[in-house]
Amino acid sequence: MEVFEIETHENCEALDITHKVEEIVQKSHVISGICTLFIPHTTAAITINENRDPSVMKDIINTLNNLIPVSGKYIHLEGNSHAHIRAAIIGSSRDIFIENGRMVLGTWQGIFFLEFDGPRKRRVFVKIIENS
Ligand code: ZN
Repeated sequence: MEVFEIETHENCEALDITHKVEEIVQKSHVISGICTLFIPHTTAAITINENRDPSVMKDIINTLNNLIPVSGKYIHLEGNSHAHIRAAIIGSSRDIFIENGRMVLGTWQGIFFLEFDGPRKRRVFVKIIENS
């Protein structure tokens, strides 16, 4: 398993981690397999969406802010329930096929780390499984 660290700079933001993951896939020399991404965090998430037009992720973040606001009728005492709820909805892992030594992503797709309770230092776990 590979691990890489990222540093988030805002309370709520989307970071494109596609190139970092692609680097790890290429370094593995796996031609055909699966790349599993997992983040060991309860107030962040990982997703795949458009990385060409940055306004798409801005709209996603803004909509999450509106749907699951920072202040609400939450009972969790730490004050970051909104971040836990957003993370629970989006999820903490993704699987991506590897074919011909590269991740199989659509033309417009990128992998995003979503921070909901930053800024913080975060980690992304990458496990590459080769087809036998
Ligand atoms: Zn909490």
